[in-house]
Amino acid sequence: MSASSPSSPASGLGPSGPADPEHDPRASYALEPERIAGLTDLVVSTSGESVPTYTPLSGQVLAMIPQTTPADVEEAYRRARAAQREWARTSLEHRSALMLKLHDLVLDRQDEIMDLICWESGKARKHAFDEPLHIALTARYYARTAHDHLDTERKIGVVPGLTRVELNRVPKGVVGIISPWNYPFTMALCDGLPALMAGNAVVTKPDAQTMLTALFGAQLLREAGFPEDLWQVVAGPGRVLGGEMISRSDYICFTGSTATGKIIAKQCAEQLIGCSLELGGKNPIIILRDADVDRAAEGAVRASFSNAGQLCVSMERMFVADQVYDRFLEKFVARTKAMRLQPGLEWGSDMGSLISQDQLDTVTAHVEDAVAKGARVLAGGKPRPDLGPYYYEPTILEGVTPDMTCFGDETFGPVIALYRFSDEADAVARANDGEYGLNASIYSQDGKRARAIARHIKCGTVNINEAFAATFASLDAPMGGMRQSGMGRRQGAEGIHRYTETQSVATQRLMRFAPPPGVSDKMFAKIFTANLRLMKKLGAK
Ligand code: NAD
Repeated sequence: MSASSPSSPASGLGPSGPADPEHDPRASYALEPERIAGLTDLVVSTSGESVPTYTPLSGQVLAMIPQTTPADVEEAYRRARAAQREWARTSLEHRSALMLKLHDLVLDRQDEIMDLICWESGKARKHAFDEPLHIALTARYYARTAHDHLDTERKIGVVPGLTRVELNRVPKGVVGIISPWNYPFTMALCDGLPALMAGNAVVTKPDAQTMLTALFGAQLLREAGFPEDLWQVVAGPGRVLGGEMISRSDYICFTGSTATGKIIAKQCAEQLIGCSLELGGKNPIIILRDADVDRAAEGAVRASFSNAGQLCVSMERMFVADQVYDRFLEKFVARTKAMRLQPGLEWGSDMGSLISQDQLDTVTAHVEDAVAKGARVLAGGKPRPDLGPYYYEPTILEGVTPDMTCFGDETFGPVIALYRFSDEADAVARANDGEYGLNASIYSQDGKRARAIARHIKCGTVNINEAFAATFASLDAPMGGMRQSGMGRRQGAEGIHRYTETQSVATQRLMRFAPPPGVSDKMFAKIFTANLRLMKKLGAK
């Protein structure tokens, strides 16, 4: 952490800890201009207009962000297309070398990255650390596996030995990426790196609340040696720029809410372009009767309160076996109450602020509705204006019923509902309830049994004895949602193949697909039929 960062006004405050009467949380979070010098110039903008971006730590203005007009979007795509034509001719070795340079830069400059993330999102520094970590993992993974995913592959020809078939993976062209605010560095870069690796250019529209972090990512790409025009950043309201991007893109990668995802999917369908949609969730965690209760209670805190619950893969529903319910509850509640809430950029806080008034309103409304209808608050349950304008306590609810909003709607905040179960099949059925299917977690000391149960859970990822990090950080495994949680996958082979078109090239030798001179069509059909029977007998595929 750099010396010029603002000092933390309060520390060691648990969720029920006292407010510090001396402390004015709005006092100390102005961002020094030199921190962001040159960043806003990276936005493609000729509008002359700019809008402020604020820090949730205090509500103060951080910077003015230039806004992109529809004509600027056109220009961004023109530049990206020109750069892509050159880029597509570069070798995988060259692209991998730049990716590994980015890996090093991200690790070397992690303090600057985390400062910006904390400033813009208000999250705790330990949750900000996940972001450079994830981008370093992504850069290394695609650098080291580029040949595995992108090399030309041999396929089986119709006449073995005479028909040689090769599969090429060619870049789509220009990929449009629309990303949310919750993991501003990860979400700005992680889907774009495989797009670049596969030979595409990128035009990206990060969320307006976290533009500076995304622009810092763009600057690091340049420093790593990626061509300037290969990565374009546009800024402005999604509902205005979204359509402008979709009409010019060869593929769209969207991360955000299910409601917006459906709008994007329709617009992409009209253009006949593909899209991947990483959307919302109402993720379940199941604590089985043979779980290690201490480990489950520790994991449950991270599952529920990482990034103040503003994480697509964090948990909002917890199903706990009767046999361990009371022991688990006691430990989970104690751990939650002991969490340190400390605003600021320093290490040492267990949970940061929500990002905005909108988020605070949603969380407050969900908890108030549940309490009014009879839910019990076992920990937290209150906003903490003494810590910052949008701070909310990590909250555990019991007795949540289907008539309460937070039973099925995504809260996207630090609120977890606890439910008891006596029958595992019933727990799985309840975990599968609802419309989402993003991520699940199972705690058990019997890995084989937990893996068998995982197969019955309708989620794109299932973590056993971990909340979400095990799948999220295992870059070789695809990640994404079933049902209303999305379409397509990031990470792994699917995460890079989505940005390519397959092209099959077949070279036919000697034999033609027509009767040779002097052979009738009827005879040719007979020969072919005999040939097919023989091939089956020989075990041909
Ligand atoms: P959102 O859908 O409102 O916004 C996400 C992005 O889409 C922003 O950049 C926004 O400007 C843009 N946008 C908004 N309307 C648009 C439109 N009509 N056309 C084009 N772009 C538009 O989402 P949010 O509420 O800011 O983010 C939180 C949601 O994102 C939660 O539901 C969360 O679960 C989800 N999310 C999912 C993942 C995942 O990987 N599955 C990751 C992070 C967040």
